Amino acid sequence: AADRPLVRIVIVGHVDHGKSTLIGRLLHETGGIPAQKIEQLKAMSARRGMPFEWSFLLDSLQAERDQGITIDTSQIRFQTPSRDIILIDAPGHAEFLRNMITGAAQADAALLLIDAAEGVRDQTRRHGYLLHLLGVKQVTVVVNKMDRVGFDEAAFRAIESEITAYLADLGVRASAVIPISAREGDGVSVRGERTPWYDGPTVLEALDGFEPARAPQDLALRLPVQAVYKFDDRRIVAGRIETGSLKVGEEIVFQPSGKTAVVKTIESWPVPAAGKEKALLNAGAAAAITLDREIFVERGEIVSTPASRPHAARRLRVRLFWLADEPLETGTVVIARLATSESRATVAAVHEVVDPGHLSTFESKSIGRNQVGEVELVLSRPIAADPHGLNPRTGRVALELGGRIAGGGLVISVLDGEATRA
Ligand code: GDP
Repeated sequence: AADRPLVRIVIVGHVDHGKSTLIGRLLHETGGIPAQKIEQLKAMSARRGMPFEWSFLLDSLQAERDQGITIDTSQIRFQTPSRDIILIDAPGHAEFLRNMITGAAQADAALLLIDAAEGVRDQTRRHGYLLHLLGVKQVTVVVNKMDRVGFDEAAFRAIESEITAYLADLGVRASAVIPISAREGDGVSVRGERTPWYDGPTVLEALDGFEPARAPQDLALRLPVQAVYKFDDRRIVAGRIETGSLKVGEEIVFQPSGKTAVVKTIESWPVPAAGKEKALLNAGAAAAITLDREIFVERGEIVSTPASRPHAARRLRVRLFWLADEPLETGTVVIARLATSESRATVAAVHEVVDPGHLSTFESKSIGRNQVGEVELVLSRPIAADPHGLNPRTGRVALELGGRIAGGGLVISVLDGEATRA
């Protein structure tokens, strides 16, 4: 049905702990994969004298995608009894961190995978920390490869208490900790007969219990301007409505310029055509609008309503994850990108550097590769911004250094800027 809730998830965990295997099995057991595809892969493995691996399924889907055979995008989809699930990133994807911190991939929930025989590793903690950093509140822990420890309850409980304590320190409550064997099929969609001491949900049931994100529509209007065009003497402001909705006749304000106007028409877009105007557009839609007056506005500004506008920010406090080899320190100049805007930004101060591997906070004036910290950024020109808690779409920045994404994170607060709120 069209109104099934959609939940975007990520599956994270130390490399080799079994992410691809779990995904392959989930796809198979939820019926998304034709049986003949599995038979084909099994036959191929047998021919090559290799044991069948569920992860081959992902590889072969990826290969088809790369060749453009399937119409599908880079997103893997499957269904639980009451949810549509989109897996927003394939494991081992090199761009994973970049996608998550730049907001290209916004997860509503996550599975954190741990190999039962290896236990909680630094990379496990880093991924857990990253979920916290990105504000992912729904986390289910999956303890995989229980067959490697003979389905031993004590081994499971030790990992369970270690990881739940770690996550609790971050303010993240694990909704469940599930013992499974992805390879052998225990606990994924079928209750594990070899874990009679466990009475919690299967992975599929846990996925089915995840709540979808609050609809972007229910938040205040945010329309980042992508471009301003001249068309038949009319000036058309175009962009995508990130949150909220937009109506003809409504008064709007552009931030950071603070200019106001009334929406005169909402044009069809990207092909303007007479008689195709609309009265209302919702979050997610491409918008092209004309205004009741001639005002000069630019790409990068954000359209909102006067009663609930973003800050015209000059100084931001940002909690970020840093990826570059060069450290980020006081005085470093980066390009900050927020929605469609960009500005040079200088690090004015570094606070609270954390090594997510050990969750230790230390005094430092610089943030190294793979570290997390809070910084104050001074912008060379004002940009429109919201605290992440108010609006996740316009409360997130990516930082570029030397033309590459070098870090990114959440706007914790706007330290210097104006906003009016009714
Ligand atoms: P990823 O790097 O996290 O995606 O891990 P993979 O899914 O590629 O799995 C890594 C290895 O662990 C592969 O050889 C899998 O066959 C193996 N593996 C995955 N799940 C299980 C399991 O439940 N039990 C055992 N014994 N091995 C598993």
